[in-house]
Amino acid sequence: MSWDRRSLSDDELTPFLQGAAEVTFRDRVKAMIEQQKETWPVLKDAVKRLDAVETRDFQIAGSRVTGQYNPGRIVSTSAKVDAASIGGRPCFLCVENLPAEERAIRFNHGLVALCNPFPVLRDHLVISATEHIAQAISGNFRSLLDLAQALGQDWFCLYNGPRCGASAPDHLHFQAASAVGIPVFDDLLCRDKWLESRRAGIERFALREYRLNLLVARSGAWDDLCEWFDAALFDLKTVTGEKEEPMVNLVVRFAENGWTVIVYPRGKHRPECYYAQGDAKLTVSPAAIDLSGLIVIPEREHFDRITERDISIILDEVSLDDERFQSWLSLEEGA
Ligand SMILES: [Zn+2]
Repeated sequence: MSWDRRSLSDDELTPFLQGAAEVTFRDRVKAMIEQQKETWPVLKDAVKRLDAVETRDFQIAGSRVTGQYNPGRIVSTSAKVDAASIGGRPCFLCVENLPAEERAIRFNHGLVALCNPFPVLRDHLVISATEHIAQAISGNFRSLLDLAQALGQDWFCLYNGPRCGASAPDHLHFQAASAVGIPVFDDLLCRDKWLESRRAGIERFALREYRLNLLVARSGAWDDLCEWFDAALFDLKTVTGEKEEPMVNLVVRFAENGWTVIVYPRGKHRPECYYAQGDAKLTVSPAAIDLSGLIVIPEREHFDRITERDISIILDEVSLDDERFQSWLSLEEGA
C-alpha cells in the first residue's frame, strides 16, 4: 500500500473533524486519532489499557519522576538495535509493512503522522519519514521545529538518537504526545536555573542540582534556533569525541512565544541494570520520555521492585557526566 492510499482524505476525516472553518494539520491529526480508535482494534485496546495503566511516583533530587508499568512496551524497550538485528528484520515504519488498518496524515518535509500502537501517553504519535532513510538529527532539526509548531502547545515532540532509544535507528522518525503531566515541563517553571544567557535572540539555561544534566534553549526565531542547534551539536561532538552523531535525546514544545528545546546529552545507551542478571536486573532503557520524568517499565516485577535510588543511578549513568557537561557548556558560553 502506498502512502497516498494510506493517507486519510478530508472526506474520510469529516465525521471526526470538529467543524473548524479552516482545517489545520493539528485538526487532521486529532481527527485521525478518533478515526483510528474506531477502525483499528489494536489501537483501541492499547488506548483502553493506557487509561488503566499503573504508576508509582518517586522524588529524585527534589523532582517528581513517575514510573509507568506498561507491558505493551516490552518489544520497544528490549529492541535489539545492532546492525545485524536491524538488517535482518522488515522495517516496521516502512509503508508496506504497516498493519492494514493503520492510516496517516501527511506533513511537509516528507513526513507522515501515525498513531503509535504502543502508547505511553495520550495522543501518542509517530511522525515518520515516507522514505526509508536513517535516523539522524542533522538536517532534520528544522522539521522537528515545524512539527512542534504545527501541533501546538498541547503536544510535545521528541527525537531519540539512533544510539539512545530509537527502536528504528534505520528509519527517520520523531514522536509526539500530550504534554499533560510530563514532569520536566513543571521543573522548567519552578526549578532554579543557572548558566542563564541571552545571546543572538536565544535564551539558554540549565537546571541547578537537577536529577540529570540537560540544556534548554528558547527562542521565537526559527533561523537563530537552527543555527544555535547545529553549533551546539558540533560542540557536543567535540567534547565527547564521537565520530558519528553525538548521543542525544531532544524534546521540543511550541507555545505563543516560540520554541522550547530541551537537549539531553547522553553518556551511554542503556544503564548497567539493563544487562544485569537476577535481582539486579531492571529492564529500563531510557529515551526522551523517560528522561523527561516518565520512566517506562515493561516488567511487572521490576516495576514493583524499582526504588528511588535505582532511578537516580539509571539517570546518572545514561546522561552525560558532570565534567563533560561543563566542558560543553563552556564551549556554548563562548559561542
Ligand atoms: Zn523503513
